[in-house]
Amino acid sequence: MSELAEPTPLAELTTLGIGGAPERMLVAEDTDELVAQLTDLWQSDEPWMVLGGGSNTVATDDEIAGAVVLIRTQGIERIATDEGVVLRVQAGETWDDLVAYAVENRLAGIEALSGIPGSVGAAPIQNIGAYGQELSSVLLGVELLDVETGERSHVPASALGLGYRTSVLKRHGGADAERDAVVLSVDLLLTEAPDGMGRPVAYTQLASALEVELGDRVELTRVRDAVLRLRRSKGMVLDPSDRDTYSAGSFFTNPIVTEQASRVLPADAPRWPQGNIDETVTVIPLDGSSDVVAPPPIQATLQREVKLSAAWLIEHASIPRGFHLPGSRAAISSKHTLALTNQGNARADDIAALARFVQARVQSEFGITLQPEPVLIDIEL
Ligand SMILES: Cc1cc2nc3c(=O)[nH]c(=O)nc-3n(C[C@H](O)[C@H](O)[C@H](O)COP(=O)(O)OP(=O)(O)OC[C@H]3O[C@@H](n4cnc5c(N)ncnc54)[C@H](O)[C@@H]3O)c2cc1C
Repeated sequence: MSELAEPTPLAELTTLGIGGAPERMLVAEDTDELVAQLTDLWQSDEPWMVLGGGSNTVATDDEIAGAVVLIRTQGIERIATDEGVVLRVQAGETWDDLVAYAVENRLAGIEALSGIPGSVGAAPIQNIGAYGQELSSVLLGVELLDVETGERSHVPASALGLGYRTSVLKRHGGADAERDAVVLSVDLLLTEAPDGMGRPVAYTQLASALEVELGDRVELTRVRDAVLRLRRSKGMVLDPSDRDTYSAGSFFTNPIVTEQASRVLPADAPRWPQGNIDETVTVIPLDGSSDVVAPPPIQATLQREVKLSAAWLIEHASIPRGFHLPGSRAAISSKHTLALTNQGNARADDIAALARFVQARVQSEFGITLQPEPVLIDIEL
């Protein structure tokens, strides 16, 4: 790892193109050295953070206290197992290069995750997902370096609390992560596909783009091409000539609320049932039980949860695509309601003001507080 003489501003290292320079900037190109240097860093009180591709980070324009460590470690190792092929990938590899590698090598399982920017090491942090696939369905585990113990260990995916855009490793908003650790490498279990076919298509929009039925299997290359085409039409593939792609992807997560809470929304508001909970359960009340006669069981209704569409809520709170506050260079993408974009020379305050405006409009219209998806560095919403 080397320390840069002149720390690079995060505006040059994040996809939003916003953010000040840290006091110190270190670059790690080799895993053992990354471990040694992080360990050194943790023995002092110096604030620190790691950065991969900067595509899920929104940072203050001010100087960032302490050290930023850029993870640039490389390497893809292929391990044949009885269950399939395991790819052990170093954290600094580029996610989409890995997808291209898998597709070229006829390995199925991540083809629908084509075009997501960023690094492999950050992929488990929020359990990336798109077009019917999620990292959690192929993630075997990760190698972590834990801040508290300073130890390296292989941790199974089941211990990472992977959920919808979350894990125990994620710093939600700017808060501390449940498990403070750095991902050194990621193990993915992919399916060998000698016929070159991908996993069953699991997303309606992708199925119609491919002109197949949900559940059909399609060539990996065709799935990748179709996903990239769909993503481009929404400004969700990085393109230096398209200001709508200067974003952190979706700025808000789709809210998950109880089915009861969702009833206040109009019938045409999209909602997707979550989990697979029984509607009613039998409960034996403890109050009044005696050794002699068991009390009669009662039926209780469990609350189902539903996921709502943040994009629908924003649009129906009268915030159209392309919207910006007067004089601001931060705008809702003209192609995708969920992306807050830097249309050129926007400042962190512009993005934060737009985000707060969207939250306030949706809150007053529907009583729901949208939560930010990216990690915020010294920014309050
Ligand atoms: C145009 C666009 C489209 C997007 N589309 C999607 C999408 O479809 N689905 C989706 O899920 N996401 C999407 N995203 C969000 C983003 O690409 C992903 O979250 C990605 O995994 C972030 O990777 P990164 O390396 O850029 O993360 P960074 O922004 O560099 O880091 C994000 C967070 O992870 C931490 N981190 C990074 N690397 C490590 C590591 N090795 N160990 C521990 N912590 C680490 C950082 O400290 C930070 O807190 C999109 C973003 C953009 C800009």
